[in-house]
Amino acid sequence: MDVSTLDIQIEKAPTSKIDQVDFDNLAFGSVFSDHMLVCDYRNGAWEFPKIMPYGPISLEPSAKIFHYGQSIFEGMKAYKDVDGGVWLFRPLDNHKRLNISASRMAIPELPEAYFMEGLRTLLQLDEKWIPTTEGSSMYIRPFMFASGKGLHASPADAYKFIIALAPSGSYFSGTVKVLIEEKYSRSANGGVGYAKAGGNYAGQFYPTQLAKEKGYQQVVWTDDNTHEYIEEAGAMNIFVRIGDTLITGPTSDRILDGITRKSILQITETKGIKTEVRKLSVTEVVEAAKNGTLKEMFGTGTAAVVSPISGFGHRGQDYGLPELDDSYASMLKKTIMDIQYNRAEDPFGWRYSVIG
Ligand SMILES: *Cc1c(COP(=O)(O)O)cnc(C)c1O
Repeated sequence: MDVSTLDIQIEKAPTSKIDQVDFDNLAFGSVFSDHMLVCDYRNGAWEFPKIMPYGPISLEPSAKIFHYGQSIFEGMKAYKDVDGGVWLFRPLDNHKRLNISASRMAIPELPEAYFMEGLRTLLQLDEKWIPTTEGSSMYIRPFMFASGKGLHASPADAYKFIIALAPSGSYFSGTVKVLIEEKYSRSANGGVGYAKAGGNYAGQFYPTQLAKEKGYQQVVWTDDNTHEYIEEAGAMNIFVRIGDTLITGPTSDRILDGITRKSILQITETKGIKTEVRKLSVTEVVEAAKNGTLKEMFGTGTAAVVSPISGFGHRGQDYGLPELDDSYASMLKKTIMDIQYNRAEDPFGWRYSVIG
C-alpha cells in the first residue's frame, strides 16, 4: 500500500473537551481525547480510515462481537519529551501483533499504512492532549471487532478498527502480592493465549476475583497441563531472578509475545546480565524462596513497564521477596523509560518519531 494514496478524512470536533480535564490527576484509561480513528471493513476490503469526534458508536444487536467475541486489541503509548517531540516505542511490532491476533480470530488483517498513518494523523490532531507530567503518557488503544450482523456462528462480513487515545498518569499500583494459580488456566496449547483477544481477559476476571478475596492482587498463570510451570502474571509477562540470573518462559501458544519482555531480553544481553529463556517450574521458585536465592519477581507490559512483585502465595503458604536497593526491576524500568521519553541514546532503534 502506497501511503501517498491513503486519504484520511478528518471531521473535527466542534469544541474541545480539554479544558474539563485535570491533567494532574489522570487515572489510567478513563479520559479520552477529542478524536478517534475509525476504519470499516466492508465488501471484502478495508475502507480508508476516518477521524471523527470521540463518542458512542451504534451497532446492531446481532453484531457478531456481542455473540461470538471476535475482538482483539493492542496497547501502546506516545511519549512527549522536554522539547515537545512526540515518540512511539516499537509501533511496527504492535501492528504486526495486531495482525497475528487478527488471523487467529479470523478477522481480516489491517494494512500497515492504515495503522501507522492513521495513528500519526490522530496523534498530530490531538497533540495537546499528550500529558507531560513525570511518568505520564498518551495511552493508545487500537482495537478491532466484528460489527457485521447475523447470528450464524461464523466470521462476520464486516469489522471496525478503532483507535482511541487516553491521556494517562504514571501507572504505579505499588508492589503486588500474587497467587500461583493451580486450577484455572489463562491459555492452552492450540488456543488463543498468544493473541490479544478480548475473551482471554474476560476469562481471567473470575479467577482473579477469587485471588483478591484471598488477599492477593494478581494471579500467576501456570501451564494448563500440569500447573507446574510459571507462564504469565495477570496480563503481563513474568521474570524471576534467582541469584543473579533472570529467567522468563519461552513464548508459545500460551505465553504472549510481549514487546516489553523482548526489549528487556535485549537490554540484559547488552548489559551482561545472565538471562535464561526457559521453562521455570513452581518447585524451583518455591525452593529458591526457601533457600534465600529468590531475589526478584516482576511483571512486564506496556502500561506499567515493570511491576514488582512483593511476595507470592502457593498452596496456602506465603513467601516474601526481599526489598533490594539495586533491583533489576528498577534498572530495567529506568532504562526503557529513558529511551521512551528521549532522555537517553536509543542503541536499539526502538524510538519512532511522530511529531519532531
Ligand atoms: C499485552 C500483554 C502482555 C504485554 O505485552 P507488551 O507488548 O509488553 O505490552 C503480556 N501478556 C499478556 C497476556 C498481554 O495481553
